[in-house]
Amino acid sequence: MLNTEPFDDIDRLSPAELERWWVRRLRAVFTVAARELPFYRERFAAAGFDPASFRALDDLNRMPIFAKADLLAAQRKTQSQRLGIERGADEPGSRTTFSLSSGTAGTTFITHTARWRRAQGMSSSRAHWWAGLRPGGTLVMSAPAWHSYAAIQPFIAMRFGMRCVVVSGTYLPRFADRVVDALVHFRPRFVTMFLPMVFSILDAARRRGIAGNELFAGVGSLVVTGAAITPGMRAHLKALTGVERVAEIAGTSENLLAVDCAYAEGLHVVSDTCHAQVIDRKTGLPVADGERGSVVHCALIPYGSLYLRYDSGDVGVINHTPCACGLPSPRIKLLGRWEDCFSIGARALLPYDVQLALEEEVPELKGAACVITREGLAEGKLRLLLIEPHGASAVSLLDHARSALSRRFDVPVEITPVKDLPLRFKGVPPILSEREAEL
Ligand SMILES: [Zn+2]
Repeated sequence: MLNTEPFDDIDRLSPAELERWWVRRLRAVFTVAARELPFYRERFAAAGFDPASFRALDDLNRMPIFAKADLLAAQRKTQSQRLGIERGADEPGSRTTFSLSSGTAGTTFITHTARWRRAQGMSSSRAHWWAGLRPGGTLVMSAPAWHSYAAIQPFIAMRFGMRCVVVSGTYLPRFADRVVDALVHFRPRFVTMFLPMVFSILDAARRRGIAGNELFAGVGSLVVTGAAITPGMRAHLKALTGVERVAEIAGTSENLLAVDCAYAEGLHVVSDTCHAQVIDRKTGLPVADGERGSVVHCALIPYGSLYLRYDSGDVGVINHTPCACGLPSPRIKLLGRWEDCFSIGARALLPYDVQLALEEEVPELKGAACVITREGLAEGKLRLLLIEPHGASAVSLLDHARSALSRRFDVPVEITPVKDLPLRFKGVPPILSEREAEL
C-alpha cells in the first residue's frame, strides 16, 4: 500500500507491475538502439542478443555490459566525440553536447536533445518530489555545470512553479559565503547541495556569527548529493542545520538517478527513466540483496546519448524488499567508487566503511570529517587525518576510536587530529597522500 503522496500513476504501480512496465520500456529502447545506433548494433550482434527476444528482466543477463573505457576506445577509433550511441543528435536546434572531464580516466561527451530534457526534467522532478519538494516557495540549487543535472534544473523549477536561486560557484568551497548570502536573503524551503559544500557553508556562516539552525530556518528539505551519507552523517546534518528532512540523491550524468524516501533506508531508483542493477564483477550476474557489486544501469528514454547496460564504476548494494513508503522501485545505495576501494589486512574497504565504523564504534564522532592516507595504506595501516574534536574528552575519544577500529578491521590504526583538511574541487578527497594534505 502506498504510504506516501504519489508523484503520478507510476508511483502507484506495485513492484510486479513496475517490473512488467520496465520490461516493455527496455524492449522498446533496445529495439531502437539495435535499429539506429551503430555502437549497440555491433555489440548486440557480437553477443547474439536480439531485442525482440527480451521478455523478462533476467534477459538483461544476456546483454553485454560496457564501461567508460569502452567509450574511450570507441572515441579513439572514430576520432570523434560521436560514438554511435547518440540518437537525434542531428535534430536541428535542439541538441547540446557537453564534456565529462571531471573524472580521471579521460573525457567523454554527452549529447542531450530537447526531448531528452523534457523526459529527464520530468523524471528529476519526480526525484525531487520524493525528496520532499512541493510547489511554491524558493528553491536554492547547486549548479554542477559539468553534470547532466545542469541541463534540467530550469525544468524542475518551472514544473513546481518555484522561485529558483542558483549561486555561482556552488561546488567551490571558497565561494561558500555566497551560498550563505543566498540562504539568508531568499529563505528557501528546499535546498539541494553538494555534501562537502554543506560543511563549508556552515563554516562560512559561523564566521559571520550565524548558527546552522538560524541559517537553515524554514528549510523543509535539505537534499545532499555527491557522496554516500551514513546514518550518523544524516543525523549529524540534521543536528547542525535543524532541518527535519535530510535526503540523499545519487545520480550520474549518463543516466542513473536514485533518491531516498522519508524512510531513508536506501535510495529508490527513479523508475520512469532509469533501470538499475547491482552486478557481480566476476560473473556479470546480479548479486543477492545486500551484497556489494557494480551498479549497472539502462536509460529508458531513447533520446540523446543512450547508455544501456552501462557500468559507471560505482560500488553499490540493492534491496528489492518492499519499502514502508510503498513506492514500487527497488532501493540502491552507492557506497563509493571502485577506484577508491583499498585493501587492508584481509579486507577490501571503501572510505564509507571507515566513516560508518567510526560512528558505530564512537557515536560522538558521527559526521567527523576524516581522510585516509596513502602512506598509511602502503605500510598496511589505517592512518586517518581527522578534524580535531572539540571538548575535554577529545583525547579519550580518539584513543577509543583507535582501539575500536583496530579491533574491527584487525589492522594497526593511527589517528592524527588536524585543524583542516585540504579542500579541492568537489570537496575533500577521501584518500590522499600526506604530502597533498600539506602537513
Ligand atoms: Zn521508500
